[in-house]
Amino acid sequence: MHIENTIRLDFKDVLIRPKRSTLTSRSEVDITREFKFLHSPVRYNGIPIIAANMDTTGTFDMARALAKHGLSTALHKHYAVEDYVDFFTKLEAKHTAFYSLGIGNADWEKFQETMRRSNNAVQYVCIDVANGYTETFVAFVKKVREAYPELVIMAGNVVTGDMTEELLLAGADIVKVGIGPGSVCTTRKMTGVGYPQLSAIIECADAAHGLGGRICADGGCTVPGDIAKAFGGGADFVMLGGMLAGHDEAGGETVEENGKTFKRFYGMSSADAMNKYAGGVARYRAAEGKSVLIPARGPVEDTVQGILGGVRSACTYVGARRLKELTMRTTFIRVGMQLNEVFG
Ligand code: 5GP
Repeated sequence: MHIENTIRLDFKDVLIRPKRSTLTSRSEVDITREFKFLHSPVRYNGIPIIAANMDTTGTFDMARALAKHGLSTALHKHYAVEDYVDFFTKLEAKHTAFYSLGIGNADWEKFQETMRRSNNAVQYVCIDVANGYTETFVAFVKKVREAYPELVIMAGNVVTGDMTEELLLAGADIVKVGIGPGSVCTTRKMTGVGYPQLSAIIECADAAHGLGGRICADGGCTVPGDIAKAFGGGADFVMLGGMLAGHDEAGGETVEENGKTFKRFYGMSSADAMNKYAGGVARYRAAEGKSVLIPARGPVEDTVQGILGGVRSACTYVGARRLKELTMRTTFIRVGMQLNEVFG
């Protein structure tokens, strides 16, 4: 047994210190980014915020709504091949949708079939497992890279620099970072495993950038300020589940209770998701996600405006003219209290 005594931090443990700035308005701030990737020759140009590949948030409707602003959606993996073929063939800005897959054979075959039938219309993929530390996962990333040298491959999840490097060397362009921070995730509760998300971002970004790789901070953002902190900590992309859930474009059953409308939102490892897709929770495992009802939030448009406004404003406070400069201009201060919660 070994104890690491260095303090690791979450979003709630810090604030971003304001800095002198020559910017006069947040409208002067450019929050699009351009990326070259470590392996893929594709060039990215967009707003690097991605809807999570959960079946509630990773929908075609969400992708169409977010694409209007240059944001992306990692589609969930439960649509039929012909639906992906139709969607990706018509998709104009390729970076606005990721095709998601796990590492099972069925997912791999489904992806290959989608590529064949769409004439390789997919440019961005998200290879997603709960635990990115296994050899089979690394081998799978290698296999996908060898089969499709042009693809932009995002792969995860991990939370440490060593594994970030290993995945990049195995063929990933973007490493997805986060174990346990998610709004409907119960991994930390069920297993005791995890890593404070802001420190995971800082450490993995440092490892990735040294090799020319990218990271995507996945999970734990609850307000636009958390997204700004993720970018400030070095995230190239930020993935959102809970913040986009409950909108019209999100999937999930609508429930009426006491005259109010709610939408169901659940983790992809929750009992709800496993009952839906895997015929129940297998006997050897426990659910590592929960299911919640959230008040229906209408179209996602206003939420997107709020998020983009918040990130732009964060840039203004530290004098970053472009999102690219935010990390360089970020000094985090550790705080005992972040928000005044007197009115809830
Ligand atoms: P959020 O933005 O809601 O805080 O986090 C979204 C992320 O939570 C997803 O992108 C995914 O990585 C993670 N997640 C989704 N469902 C589950 C689940 O059932 N269990 C766990 N451990 N994580 C989940």
